[in-house]
Amino acid sequence: MRATVYSGRNSVQVENVPDPKILNRRDAIVKITSTAICGSDLHLYDGYVPEVKKGDIFGHEFMGEVVEVGPDVGNLAVGDRVVVPFPIACGNCTSCRNGLWSACENSNPNANMAEKVWGHSSCGIFGYSHLTGGYAGGQAEYARVPFADVGPLKVDDDLTDEQVLFLTDVFPTGYMGAELCDIQGGDIVAVWGAGPVGLFAVASAYLLGAEQVICIDRFEYRLAKAREAGAVTLNYEQVDIVDALREMTGGRGPDACIDAVGMEAHHPTTAIHAYDRVKQATRQETERPHALREAIMTVRNGGIVSVVGVYGGLMDKFPMGSVVNRSLTIKAGQCHVHKYLKPLLEHIRSGDIDPTWIISHTLPLDEAPHGYEIFKHKQEECTKVVLKP
Ligand code: NAD
Ligand code: ZN
Ligand code: ZN
Repeated sequence: MRATVYSGRNSVQVENVPDPKILNRRDAIVKITSTAICGSDLHLYDGYVPEVKKGDIFGHEFMGEVVEVGPDVGNLAVGDRVVVPFPIACGNCTSCRNGLWSACENSNPNANMAEKVWGHSSCGIFGYSHLTGGYAGGQAEYARVPFADVGPLKVDDDLTDEQVLFLTDVFPTGYMGAELCDIQGGDIVAVWGAGPVGLFAVASAYLLGAEQVICIDRFEYRLAKAREAGAVTLNYEQVDIVDALREMTGGRGPDACIDAVGMEAHHPTTAIHAYDRVKQATRQETERPHALREAIMTVRNGGIVSVVGVYGGLMDKFPMGSVVNRSLTIKAGQCHVHKYLKPLLEHIRSGDIDPTWIISHTLPLDEAPHGYEIFKHKQEECTKVVLKP
């Protein structure tokens, strides 16, 4: 089959690789009809996530048709059309039973590696380094889906791939980012990042009852999409974010702040950014946490900081004093996608949200290398690339 494989820093290639096979009784094989490139893929592509090896197949946002099922997958049949959540979860462990699907305790065969970095392991994730299992990803013609009796959701043919594809990741992730904010009527929520995750966080914060959502980025074409979802936008190259947020909230700060940027935040002008760049480049710190620091410093006293941007390991200059002295709450997570599949499918069906609004490019799978470049560099007004195997 054709698959998008890592070929070194800032480089992927679409190559012929062996077809996946059923390995375990709860596996299924899915023939992929649509897949997408995510901001999380960029952290691998850019070389900031450890244990990514040349030849690894990337991709964790994919859907398609079931072509083979293992003997213990009773709920799926050959021919079913499914979306596949990016976290691989067993459905039986304590985390899964508590709805913490991305913290599954059984799905990472390389848990010992993850334990060294994080203390305990997370779940396994498709196409997302050997630290989270070394599973082959879904930017390919086929994928093996472990625990297929638990993860995949069947979808009817009346919805297009583009309408349901983002249930695999970025729609639930943005939604969870907003849900963690525990939004009360009248709340003002600020979102850092107008990428797919930030855009879905904006739309979701309104679905959950926010009075006003403020979205921060530097790319005007992305901020325009945030305005389409109702956000007031701030371009951090044009205004000082700390001052602007204070001004817009009567001096108190937003009730909740969402970090939808993660470990590769950009900020050209400050000394602290130069510090992070050097420390990240020399592997003494894994993150450039500019957006997170700003979210912490600007949220109101007693407010919530919701972190769905991804971080890899250790960060410097973390403003813990602000957290303790102002009674802040920080909530975070890889998205527990399984939990959101059905409720968010209902929001799509009822027309509350049209996920196709984030798509800027649809390319054949063979053009994945170009897709990575324009998504990484935000060229051609790229917000989201869908690949068609
Ligand atoms: P993206 O690269 O398209 O978007 C990130 C946006 O952040 C860009 O528009 C960029 O201009 C903006 N940005 C950079 N620095 C900023 C700053 N200092 N202030 C404000 N905005 C800034 O990526 P995406 O697909 O939207 O993903 C965003 C983050 O969410 C990534 O870290 C990704 O790994 C993470 N993610 C997490 C989960 C999860 O389950 N928690 C799932 C998917 C993605
Ligand atoms: Zn993703
Ligand atoms: Zn589990």
